[in-house]
Amino acid sequence: MSAIPTLQLSSGTLMPVLGYGTWLSEAAEVAKGVKWAIETGYRHIDCAERYGNQREIGHALSELWKSGYKREDVFITSKLWNTRHDCPEESVRQTLKNLQLEYLDLYLIHFPEAFPRGAREEEMGSGKRDYAAVTLTETWQKMESLVDKGLVKAIGVSNFLVSEIQEILGSCRIKPAVNQIEVHPYNTSIPLVEFCHTNGIAVTAYSPLANQYFLTEVDPNNTRRPNTKDMTPLLQHPVVTKISEAHKKTAAQVLIRYVIDRGMTVIPKSMRLERIKENYDVFDFKLTEADVGELNAMNVNFKLVDPGWRLWPQQA
Ligand code: NAP
Repeated sequence: MSAIPTLQLSSGTLMPVLGYGTWLSEAAEVAKGVKWAIETGYRHIDCAERYGNQREIGHALSELWKSGYKREDVFITSKLWNTRHDCPEESVRQTLKNLQLEYLDLYLIHFPEAFPRGAREEEMGSGKRDYAAVTLTETWQKMESLVDKGLVKAIGVSNFLVSEIQEILGSCRIKPAVNQIEVHPYNTSIPLVEFCHTNGIAVTAYSPLANQYFLTEVDPNNTRRPNTKDMTPLLQHPVVTKISEAHKKTAAQVLIRYVIDRGMTVIPKSMRLERIKENYDVFDFKLTEADVGELNAMNVNFKLVDPGWRLWPQQA
């Protein structure tokens, strides 16, 4: 098993606290990134049908198994897209086929919004939750049956706020093992993280570097916002720089450690080998409580992933 510390999920599964993200990794390139990550030591890969690159990740994984890496040593997550809330089994079977796997370690509902079949994201503008008249309870029951059938080891949610999790907790047989949400010092999500932890739900922090926001002015999918607030990129923020100098680590390593030291797992993405290694090299130091407090104080509830159709029922 990996040298990376693990966190035990309510399902009993062990999840490495550090994983490798694959969002916005070009399909033609992603195989290289996944191979570099596994060779560096990562044993946790975060995927999604929506990222459009699972087939290429599947090729990379099958090559890695052939070269001696073992499937059971790698934790693999994927996600059910919004247009598929009525058919998690069909969706996960397609994902397994693309990834060339027999099971997933974790399958998440990507967002609580259920879109009609075939709907395009850019058509979804009005912020309703049940566009497709599929309730979260119905979708969750279908997710539970995936565990019964051995297609997935654990199930969870992503981008869910407290009321949406409560809706599932009120009727579930298997409770969500994980909520995958955006966490970094500009969006600390302290009440939501506390709620999840109190209810035995692990939290995986995505976009820990909040970096994609600062790379683009135009986003055709309306999922990334331009830097209209003229915010300082987190990787260059003076507080982050000061803490990184004190620990003799980089800004990215401080931001990754920030969520690990708050008890979460984390999935940074890079398509550059030197950064994949840098982001992995975070287990020889810890932030102090004062460091975490200073980073918490930077919160402005800023979400990088804030699509127009997302209905945030409450800010948490
Ligand atoms: P991120 O990991 O916070 O940042 C990635 C960006 O930072 C890329 O532009 C990358 O560029 C750059 N970067 C990576 N390491 C760096 C370093 N050490 N120094 C400087 N720059 C660095 O953002 P993310 O991709 O948004 O989030 C991570 C993963 O979370 C995603 O890939 C995806 O798997 C998951 N996610 C899930 C959801 C969801 O709805 N559940 C939403 C968003 C993300 P290079 O590639 O050029 O290095």
